[in-house]
Amino acid sequence: MIMKVSKRAQSVPPSATLAVTARAKELKAQGINVIGFGAGEPDFDTPKYIKDAAIAALNAGKTKYTPASGTIELKKAIAEKLLRENKLEYKPEQVVINIGAKHSVYGAMQAVLDPGDAVILPTPFWLTYPEAIKLAGAKVKVVKTSRQNSYKITPEQLKKAIGPKTKMFVLNSPNNPGGFTYTPDELASLAKVLEGTDVAVLSDEIYERLVYAGTKFISFAALSKDAYDRTLTINGFSKTYSMTGWRLGYTAGPVDVIKAMGRLQDHSTSNPVTFAQDAAITALKDPNNEVEKMRVEFEKRAQYMVDRLNAIKGVKCTQPTGAFYCFPDVSAYFGKTKGGIEIKGSLDFARALLEQANVAVVPGLPFGCDKNIRLSFATSMQNITEGIDRIQKWLSS
Ligand SMILES: *Cc1c(COP(=O)(O)O)cnc(C)c1O
Repeated sequence: MIMKVSKRAQSVPPSATLAVTARAKELKAQGINVIGFGAGEPDFDTPKYIKDAAIAALNAGKTKYTPASGTIELKKAIAEKLLRENKLEYKPEQVVINIGAKHSVYGAMQAVLDPGDAVILPTPFWLTYPEAIKLAGAKVKVVKTSRQNSYKITPEQLKKAIGPKTKMFVLNSPNNPGGFTYTPDELASLAKVLEGTDVAVLSDEIYERLVYAGTKFISFAALSKDAYDRTLTINGFSKTYSMTGWRLGYTAGPVDVIKAMGRLQDHSTSNPVTFAQDAAITALKDPNNEVEKMRVEFEKRAQYMVDRLNAIKGVKCTQPTGAFYCFPDVSAYFGKTKGGIEIKGSLDFARALLEQANVAVVPGLPFGCDKNIRLSFATSMQNITEGIDRIQKWLSS
């Protein structure tokens, strides 16, 4: 064969969640009414004031290249936002605009990691992190957390995981898929552990505005001067503004790393979409508190879903305090047989639930937690009610 797939590309596995999604699509195509809890994006449309800004930008001719690392206007607007909302002082040259926060994660790993470096990744983790770490040639050091500690890494666990090769710690709060948020005190104790080490922090804050039940969000870099110096703050527009398809994320941090990320973009992707960058400046203004309206709706659903899940015998779900996921432990049902399928773990559980009750959830295994399943509440109350009714009936049958 003349052309072979590179070892690097071969090392990237297909998404482990794809099988469930593909099967759910098949069932739907057969006319079966499937309730989907798989969504990883808000179910709201992008607010109109943002769409209008993009249309105005297009009409004003904002259709050409911008600097590869983003426009100076958007960098300034983001620096102002970080100061106003996150108490973080970044100069515009400490900000790089990326093509979605997923691209931010990839670029940050490429800019900071060398082959042989190790990266601490607590469970449950977003699927992209381990792949981005490996694509940068580094090794993933998974740290198993416990339900008793709401799936959060403890300072003791973090301390124990740090070795001579450790270059980075990945922090994602509010968390996908866990639906938890670290408290300011918890973050401060983690920051203490890192003091005096050379461990950088990648703080993925994409769900910062989606917090519930009185939860207070704080940026890791805002904890102290030491935390600020070692942190790359990553955020984006997808979740907060329901702009997943617009592909806009950003990274703020030490100027040399941010410049390096910009250079990588010079020769790989070039700039994020020009008129989307323009509209993002308007998005940040949010004149009618659209973000808060969406948050309030998510909060209602979060409470309803967790209460319903915990009312099911054997299902144990921690209170969601952020993002839009419930992540219940369903391992009480492992070892049982349902409709001819022996449930050995989360993959079997998700498969049987889909085939027999027509409810699509994401198995916890690829997130590093095989006892759990992930249910997104980025769907209507009506769907949540019907979906949980089905799960309850199925589990008690
Ligand atoms: C959705 C998500 C992102 C990135 O989304 P983009 O659309 O690429 O901006 C990043 N981190 C986590 C944890 C996410 O769930």
